[in-house]
Amino acid sequence: MKQVITRRKLLKTIALVGVCPSITIGSMKAFASLPKLDPENAQAKALQYIHQSAIAEKNCGNCRLYTGDASQDWGPCAIFPGKDVATAGWCKAWVAK
Ligand code: SF4
Repeated sequence: MKQVITRRKLLKTIALVGVCPSITIGSMKAFASLPKLDPENAQAKALQYIHQSAIAEKNCGNCRLYTGDASQDWGPCAIFPGKDVATAGWCKAWVAK
């Protein structure tokens, strides 16, 4: 079945995106993955960041500073803006959730 997009529907959609850019961008960010944090990065080194925590009960997935979805392998961290950290990772800034 051929679906027709009416001019009115198109204009409503454009207006909605224009009115709610933060919602749209926020939704896109929620699904976008960031570049992975390089453990050789100066800040990562300073905080002794590693992709695989040596302490089972302390990892990025259960750190208060992790802002991603702990069921995913990678996600953002407040300490390293613009980078994803490994959910199984760890650094010296770890704080219990
Ligand atoms: S602060 Fe450290 S332990 Fe916590 S999520 Fe970020 S990188 Fe992982």
